[in-house]
Amino acid sequence: MRRELYPDNWEEISKEVRERSGGQCECEGFCGLHTGRRCEEKNGQQAKWARGKITLTVAHLTHNPQDCRRECLKAMCQRCHLRYDRLYKSRKKLEKKDLLVVEKGDLTGF
Ligand SMILES: [Zn+2]
Ligand SMILES: [Zn+2]
Repeated sequence: MRRELYPDNWEEISKEVRERSGGQCECEGFCGLHTGRRCEEKNGQQAKWARGKITLTVAHLTHNPQDCRRECLKAMCQRCHLRYDRLYKSRKKLEKKDLLVVEKGDLTGF
């Protein structure tokens, strides 16, 4: 996380979101692992999917650190957050690749 991209009161915002979550991961399938269901992982508890304890962190649904509308922020467990970010990054990479192909005028990849 690049702190300089976040608002000054990010700590407060992130605390507020984690409190709102009631200590339970707020991912409702954004990570692609449990579509339509809320994740059952709870902050401070033994993870169901791995060794170790759950720590909820706050994810940006818009992937814009400056966008702190509460509906765009979700408290997520490590698994959901990682998977969610990975989904986003691979999607972004794909878009970039498509763009490059178009810029070069090479459409043989389609
Ligand atoms: Zn989760
Ligand atoms: Zn999830």
